[in-house]
Amino acid sequence: MHQTTRTMPAHKHIALVAHDSCKPDLLRWVQENKEKLQGHFLYATGTTGAMLSKQTGLAIKSMISGPMGGDQQLGALISEKQIDVLVFFWDPLNAVPHDPDVKALLRIASVWNIPVAVNRASANFLFESSLMSKDVDIEIPDYDRYLAERV
Ligand code: PGA
Repeated sequence: MHQTTRTMPAHKHIALVAHDSCKPDLLRWVQENKEKLQGHFLYATGTTGAMLSKQTGLAIKSMISGPMGGDQQLGALISEKQIDVLVFFWDPLNAVPHDPDVKALLRIASVWNIPVAVNRASANFLFESSLMSKDVDIEIPDYDRYLAERV
């Protein structure tokens, strides 16, 4: 597919998700990066969002719980270009019932070329980037052109 460009704003829309065994890690990371996160718009799956907003006081727009469809809600927002960054601490050591949804969320983030952090190290590297506080052009699939050529 041909590519086009979209501009991510300086104030980014960031989705936060953690599987149960990774929630303490994400909470600690969010507490350590609270100041940076306050400058962005935050989204999360249901349980992650409730936990983070209760523990940190951050304003977070929560979907429903991941296994109940929250991962898919975030995936839909990504495909609508409404999410700029995904921080998803998924559990590499335990099976989850909604594995297809997990894969779908990671896949759609890749399709729409948004940066993804999957653990504390990658989240730290990502949030140290100067691009986090600037407008940034990214390449995305040129869906309008694809459709125009197909029909
Ligand atoms: P949760 O969902 O935040 O509701 O626990 C996370 C997930 O996708 O498993």
